[in-house]
Amino acid sequence: PRLANQIAAGEVVERPSSVLKELVENSLDAGASRIDLDIEEGGVKLIRVRDDGSGIGKEDLPLALSRHATSKISELSDLEAVASLGFRGEALASISSVSRLSLSSAQEGGESGWVARSEGRDMAAVLEPIAHPRGTTVEVRDLFFNTPARRKFLRTEKTEFSHLEEVMKRQSLGRFDVGFSLRHNGRAVHSLKPAQSQLEQERRLASVCGPAFMENALFIDRSAVDLRLWGWVALPGFSRSQADLQHFYVNGRYIRDRLVAHAVRQAYRDVLFHGRHPAFVLYLELNPTSVDVNVHPTKHEVRFRDGRTVHDFIFRTLHKVLADVRP
Ligand code: ADP
Ligand code: MG
Repeated sequence: PRLANQIAAGEVVERPSSVLKELVENSLDAGASRIDLDIEEGGVKLIRVRDDGSGIGKEDLPLALSRHATSKISELSDLEAVASLGFRGEALASISSVSRLSLSSAQEGGESGWVARSEGRDMAAVLEPIAHPRGTTVEVRDLFFNTPARRKFLRTEKTEFSHLEEVMKRQSLGRFDVGFSLRHNGRAVHSLKPAQSQLEQERRLASVCGPAFMENALFIDRSAVDLRLWGWVALPGFSRSQADLQHFYVNGRYIRDRLVAHAVRQAYRDVLFHGRHPAFVLYLELNPTSVDVNVHPTKHEVRFRDGRTVHDFIFRTLHKVLADVRP
């Protein structure tokens, strides 16, 4: 089973940013209201994720590191209504098989905190008591120390960090109610307070997407039967050549989907931006039973029950908004 862990790890653990994504999703699953990320050397030396979520009990700590032991999927009767972000029950096991991992945690009312440490696939987790506030800290050190071939595929520290930062940006725009901080090599890169009001949300947006985006962004909020599209779209004043400022969320989950991308692109093409990359942060909300979010293991794809209606709604909404403000 340990070898199986390491093989499967290749699917989940492609690079430091894929580790970070899984860890942050776990923190969100645990109901964290604040998540602090500490990175060293592009994540190769250290990825530390600290949250103030529900924590893990002593008995469950070793289990959390064992493959499939905790999969929530068996408890779910209606897969289509999955509200939780994680569902495979293998991320921590996979990550621990290719790193030196420590999982520290304490629960409300627990007598003390506990830490489980493991080192690669050959070592069973060791449990020790530790002082820890309510919540969980995961430290992933020396990623791929025992898989040199995988390690060779990593790019420069700067490139890996930009992937890590992108993960934080995506997560933080998906959960305005959660505070995030990101440090790299001891330097504070992002510090985002929970954002409730639209003003606070726009402050976070300016910090994550840059002030230029926010200065040229228009807030929209339109609803139709069972569908709501809201968020910010950049207006013509914002000319940015990169295609990386395209954030689309379905029921709070970041997605990259061809149908959605097509609808957005068509609307922009039709009205404004010939040959230019649209920039937007948009949220689509619909009945969870109308969308299957578990199509792909990386979970960036979705399948809409009625794709055509969704496409038309996004296209018509954006088309109207953009046409109204056309210079
Ligand atoms: P999954 O999230 O798919 O269940 P993981 O391997 O990512 O699988 O995590 C295993 C289990 O460890 C989770 O189901 C959860 O019970 C526990 N866990 C992991 N991270 C945290 C965390 N930050 N806070 C609380 N519990 C956690
Ligand atoms: Mg998980």
